Amino acid sequence: MQHKTITELLAGLKAGEFSSEELTRFTLQRIQDLDKHLNCFITVTQKEAIAAAKEADQLRKKNQETPLLSGIPLAHKDIFCTQGIKTSCGSKMLDNFIAPYDATLVEKLKAAGTILVGKTNMDEFAMGSSNENSYYGSVRNPWDLNAVPGGSSGGSAAAVAAGLVPGATGTDTGGSIRQPAALCGITGLKPTYGRVSRYGMIAFASSLDQAGPIAKTAEDCALLLQAMAGLDKKDSTSVDTAVPDYQAALRTSLKGLKIGLPKEYFGEGLHPEVQKLVQDALKILEKEGAILKDISLPNTRLAIPTYYVIAPAECSSNLSRFDGVRFGYRCLNPKNLDDLYKRSRSEGFGAEVKRRILIGTYVLSTGYFDAYYLQAQKVRKLITNDFMEAFKEVHVILGPTSPTPAFNIGEKVKDPIGMYLCDIYTISINLAGLPGLSMPGGFVNQRPVGIQLIGNYFEEGKLLNIAHQFQQLTDWHKKIPPHPFNA
Ligand code: GLN
Repeated sequence: MQHKTITELLAGLKAGEFSSEELTRFTLQRIQDLDKHLNCFITVTQKEAIAAAKEADQLRKKNQETPLLSGIPLAHKDIFCTQGIKTSCGSKMLDNFIAPYDATLVEKLKAAGTILVGKTNMDEFAMGSSNENSYYGSVRNPWDLNAVPGGSSGGSAAAVAAGLVPGATGTDTGGSIRQPAALCGITGLKPTYGRVSRYGMIAFASSLDQAGPIAKTAEDCALLLQAMAGLDKKDSTSVDTAVPDYQAALRTSLKGLKIGLPKEYFGEGLHPEVQKLVQDALKILEKEGAILKDISLPNTRLAIPTYYVIAPAECSSNLSRFDGVRFGYRCLNPKNLDDLYKRSRSEGFGAEVKRRILIGTYVLSTGYFDAYYLQAQKVRKLITNDFMEAFKEVHVILGPTSPTPAFNIGEKVKDPIGMYLCDIYTISINLAGLPGLSMPGGFVNQRPVGIQLIGNYFEEGKLLNIAHQFQQLTDWHKKIPPHPFNA
């Protein structure tokens, strides 16, 4: 049961092979037995999960027409507000925060019949690429417990890879769905900016943040996205574009598909064995009738510096609400109001969050705004234009998700720039607001490698289709991490 996909579990539930209550109890037991090795969960919602599973079983008994994902256990990244359940965002600042409402994504997945089993660990306020920035400690990679799972949605990715849950949600501001999916050997999709509502998702960098699904296969990601996507009046940046049938899109042939290979994604810094696996994947796609074309995204080298102006600027503004008065942590015995603000924020935030707030405040300050923030917005436009030019010639773009397989826990902690460089292939996609998907493409030293597909706006269906076709021809997504997770 633990290594079945959502699609397989739904078939089992429909056929009456097991009930949602049995599946949910099994899932909760597995979390209890195995999460001590991984630290994926900040909160496990045992009582609520069993009650919801019983309800799903009732509904299935009574009614032929059950919602899309009825009875499927799911975990949410702890960045999504869940009514009555702690929502920490991986921070001491929100360690005591119980959200008074559900995020739209949580509401939608509940309406689709999923059973929330818990909230997953993450880098504090989604800032990080390794999950080492969590107030609740690092998450470990089930493929190698010395390795990081990637970040910031590392808890979600590791939980799916280890078979603790069949699917989970994540958020991606600069790579946080795709990079942990790659490093854990599973599939993750960052939708087009605006495809999924951000209402109730704790903001990091509002013009870049986007929620998406994490699961073993593209087919499962299609199911989850189906339930998550759509216009939300509560989020003015959510887009009023019809949500296509993502399942139906999975069966299109790849014949004549033009795949662009940006030369900037295959240069210096890319691990040679990762490069080889990307090339192996290309051969498979070519055999299916895809046409490969060399392209250029000339402003790629500007993506990281641009992101590290825009993301900190937006974070410094978003995180100003955590002042010790309205939300979360408050210092003990403040001497006066100034002391309350200062100490609540210095004690409540971790080092990386403080670093970003400092940078963000600086680049937004009078005299520097034009030189940094405004300039970064102009470069952002150039990066977007590169993609628009490329999509005149090709249907999708393909490359590695991350330049290397998972690194060791502790390896990059003292080297923030080195850590930032992990996102070299993912960050431009957020700056441009495009959809991107990471799918498993093999292993280097027993550590998984991800292959990234980048599409034009609202072409999630195309990315899911290509990944699904690839997964019919390969079995990288079927590999299971070693003991004790392979039991
Ligand atoms: N690693 C990037 C950062 O630290 C991206 C994080 C994310 O996508 N949330 O900002």
